[in-house]
Amino acid sequence: MRDHLFCTACRREFPIDSAFPRCDGCNEPLEVSISRAKPSIKTDAPRLLERFLDFMPLASLHAGISLGEGDTPLVKSSAAARETGIDRLFFKNEALNPTWSFKDRGTIACIEHALNLGYERIGTVSTGNMAASVAAYGARAGLQTYILVGSNLPEEKIAPIAIYSPRLILVDGDYGDLYFRSLEIGKQRGVYFMNSDVPFRVEGSKTIAFEICEQMGFEVPDNLVVPVSSGGNFRGIIKGFEEFLEAGLIDGLPRFIAAQADGCSPIADAFENNREAVERIVKPNTIAKAIANPYPPSGNQVLRKLRQHGGIAMTVSDAEIESAQELLARDGIFGQPAAAAPLAAVRKLVSQGTISGTQSVACVVSGAGVKSMSHLAAKEYQGTRIAIEKLQDVFR
Ligand SMILES: *Cc1c(COP(=O)(O)O)cnc(C)c1O
Ligand SMILES: [Zn+2]
Repeated sequence: MRDHLFCTACRREFPIDSAFPRCDGCNEPLEVSISRAKPSIKTDAPRLLERFLDFMPLASLHAGISLGEGDTPLVKSSAAARETGIDRLFFKNEALNPTWSFKDRGTIACIEHALNLGYERIGTVSTGNMAASVAAYGARAGLQTYILVGSNLPEEKIAPIAIYSPRLILVDGDYGDLYFRSLEIGKQRGVYFMNSDVPFRVEGSKTIAFEICEQMGFEVPDNLVVPVSSGGNFRGIIKGFEEFLEAGLIDGLPRFIAAQADGCSPIADAFENNREAVERIVKPNTIAKAIANPYPPSGNQVLRKLRQHGGIAMTVSDAEIESAQELLARDGIFGQPAAAAPLAAVRKLVSQGTISGTQSVACVVSGAGVKSMSHLAAKEYQGTRIAIEKLQDVFR
């Protein structure tokens, strides 16, 4: 069978050479289906997508597009391992990507697809990491790049996007509508909108799962914890494990755990109440801005996957996130609040007895702490003040 897209809800099929990411019947997200006889990892390939090309809906890759995305370390915890009593606790540190979040994995997969289809214009809707990622890779590929943001975006967030010289559009009006509206306009006007959960972005996120399997010697962790907003990354990670299982590279799946913030938890709410569809959150309120999507476009598909695999969706408070951010830092890793939510979730699951110390756990640290400093500035991390003449006293 040839590579194609299919609807995650009604299973209708669509051609792979479409940039429109949703089913025109039920408006649920589409997903890539690929079938290869005997896919394998090209272990000596230097670039991410080359290494996993057998698992990608791409025949070949373009030169001069990669920025060295992926291949991030899986760090075995010391401090957090001691504190939680989980000896085999790991952090997949996605802060080490070219624009400091996992978004680069999906962005490069989308850019390869867009170039294959002959697009000269790309775009995204985002306020943070995805905007920076698409702007950076768009610049590198020499594509006209449109970044749509809400007009109330704080100034400090503009420069890290604008530095790459995209067409930055500040849109007045309902930011929640922008996701769907941009897709419609993209279809009419020939702009490839690589939003949060489009099929090729999900394909890029699979590589997080692939790398974790490799780094753990093809033993899967008992628990895999991911901070979830739109649901695109979580879908990709689950799909990656499923494909390695299917290829015979691993012999089981982890328990998949979605971590959301108390102040914006449409997926965890629906999960706990046994609903099949997410409901829009009216006023998101959390320091973890990267997981504050009030109406996740892949929310329903995440719910379907959690039920299929016996996964969990849960919430953590801002206080728990801040505390986890500090604990993560004691392991030497500075993640942004969203990236610390998985560790906060692990602490909670340990105290509830859902995770025991004999199990292994991998947390996805999704993006870098330097990208989100405002809640820390308010906090006063103080040093000790001393006159230079007395400096030796410090070391008594
Ligand atoms: C985008 C992002 C998330 C959420 O990922 P989704 O695919 O939208 O669920 C989590 N953490 C960070 C740092 C992000 O940039
Ligand atoms: Zn459908």
